[in-house]
Amino acid sequence: MSDLSRLILDRIRDVPDYPKPGVLFKDITPLLADPAAFSAVTDELAGLHEVDKIVGIEARGFILAAPAAYKAGAGFVPMRKKGKLPSETLDESYDLEYGSATIEVHRDAFAPGDRVLIVDDVLATGGTACAAVELVRRAGAEVVAVAVLMELAFLKGRDRLAGVELHPLVIV
Ligand code: AMP
Repeated sequence: MSDLSRLILDRIRDVPDYPKPGVLFKDITPLLADPAAFSAVTDELAGLHEVDKIVGIEARGFILAAPAAYKAGAGFVPMRKKGKLPSETLDESYDLEYGSATIEVHRDAFAPGDRVLIVDDVLATGGTACAAVELVRRAGAEVVAVAVLMELAFLKGRDRLAGVELHPLVIV
């Protein structure tokens, strides 16, 4: 295991039964509060691919994607929960490990053919990432890869991302 994977594992806190019984929540706030860990993760995400835009999925994806975009010299694009973006949007609905949701992106968020990296904190069932890939494509851009801090392998989210390059910084 790499030093970075070890550092990430060490700084992500397991919170049982949050937000509902049976879910083991992966809390990234200890990692964000550690400057060495946060900057190592930012550097890793920024160096994965040459891209035009980095998408962050609300809300924890924003925290990871925005500094990575800055570092990479790429633009940052927010993918938000329904009703939060002010201009014209595209939307996709999907099932979560706990509940269901709809995410949106601005219709004009990408230039045609933009190369895009999608970033989130946790890949669980893959519904969110799959919807994000669909939205980027519908908006006329190219998904280069999806990157997550942590993949929960037992939920088989990667099966829903067939044909999409996936970069989990750690797999549990
Ligand atoms: P999914 O669509 O099932 O892959 O769920 C991924 C989304 O839900 C990500 O945006 C995560 O932030 C959040 N999520 C799902 N399961 C967990 C978990 N066990 N711990 C932390 N976040 C989670």
